[in-house]
Amino acid sequence: MSGTIAALSTPPLSGAIGIIRLSGPEAFSAAAAIFRPSENVPFLSMPPRMLTTGDVILSGNLMDKVCALRLPAPNSYTGEDMVELHLHGSPPLLQSVLEALYASGAKPAAPGEFTRRALMHGKLSLSQAEAVIDLITAETRDSARNAAGQLDGRTGRVFQAVYERLANMLSHFYAVMDYPEEGLPESDLEELARQLELANRDLQKLLGTYEMGRVLREGIRCAIIGRPNVGKSSLLNAFAGEGRAIVSATPGTTRDIIEETVLLGGVKLRLCDSAGIRKKPDCPIETEGLARARTLAGEAELLFVVLDGSAPLGDDDRAVLDLARNRNCVILINKSDLTGVWERDSIEAAFLHIVPVSAKSGDGLDAVGSTLRHIYSSGAVYDGSILTNARQADAIRRTQEAIGHTSDALKQGITPDAVLAELESALSIVSELTGKRVSEDILERIFSQFCVGK
Ligand code: GDP
Repeated sequence: MSGTIAALSTPPLSGAIGIIRLSGPEAFSAAAAIFRPSENVPFLSMPPRMLTTGDVILSGNLMDKVCALRLPAPNSYTGEDMVELHLHGSPPLLQSVLEALYASGAKPAAPGEFTRRALMHGKLSLSQAEAVIDLITAETRDSARNAAGQLDGRTGRVFQAVYERLANMLSHFYAVMDYPEEGLPESDLEELARQLELANRDLQKLLGTYEMGRVLREGIRCAIIGRPNVGKSSLLNAFAGEGRAIVSATPGTTRDIIEETVLLGGVKLRLCDSAGIRKKPDCPIETEGLARARTLAGEAELLFVVLDGSAPLGDDDRAVLDLARNRNCVILINKSDLTGVWERDSIEAAFLHIVPVSAKSGDGLDAVGSTLRHIYSSGAVYDGSILTNARQADAIRRTQEAIGHTSDALKQGITPDAVLAELESALSIVSELTGKRVSEDILERIFSQFCVGK
């Protein structure tokens, strides 16, 4: 984590602009070796943090006319001397410039190394660094907004407050340990119990949002079920077209289920269709359809039950509807472009979310999106207060456990040194959240998810 690093920070594709970043003690000298400011001023005299135009010269040849930013430490992303070169986005040009920078003493940056250096120099907390990767990989506006809130330190502030609460308690205990014969007065014990309760409450409030965070991150596993010919496959295709498939159809590796990830109403859905489920030999087609629906429904968090609105309900439709009772579901009355004969009253009496749609004309697909938003997002505020990170959720649970042990020890009147040991263990786990004491192994795991250049 020392020396000067350089990397392409934009995608390695042709584009209007390609940005190369440098960070470290030799950043200015390496950049000065290839960049000549237009005003003919020395590189080090370029005004800091202002775009300066100039030429990139490699082996005496003009390679590009660009802008450069000189960012002296500590006021840069990494906290080190940094340079940004805003070149034209030509992959061979960018590659030549990188090679020249490597020849002048910079080395290729490891994935996430810029952000890791920012963490090392205290420019970001660990949860903020994790928010950077969440923001880059966000697939919905909601998850991007939530990551931005975390980048702004929203979750980090909760962790820091809990850390400080526990650290204050710990110093109080140390003071008591210095005069063990005096013990802890009753009022102190009550106050300590209260502080533990408050720390636990703050953590629980955050952990309570984790399920919503999982939906944001992974999407909702949704099965499209219905008897044959109601239009399940047509609807899946329509949603994929409407919702702009963000992952192409992948035949499931288990049980041959087709899964397509789509955004509907800004909600990420992993839509599963049974198209790939193999037909069991000697199985009548109707039974087969229901068996498929049952398999899919069992594994889904949400069901899209498709009915053909142009035909009366049959026994097989009713059997599929039975699968959806008391489940999170939306009833899609398909073929709304045809004359409707569906039994509105009986279905409305049993289900809350019913949307007439037409896979053929596209009518009603927007309304399905609005219904999903209503189910999954009403009341949600994506300002960074939703916990999305599995590592953080795990550390919160472990901290709560340690806080529980500390409070038990307090209640049971165990000696201050025993309480102290429990409290120290709680504090050490919170340190994994704040990033104050985090193992190299965890850091490696976090930063290996980054791309090079970030
Ligand atoms: P699945 O067996 O449930 O997957 O049904 P399909 O998607 O294969 O559709 C069955 C038949 O219904 C096909 O002939 C489709 O063209 C037709 N179909 C599907 N959706 C609609 C719709 O919204 N309107 C009309 N008129 N026909 C549809």
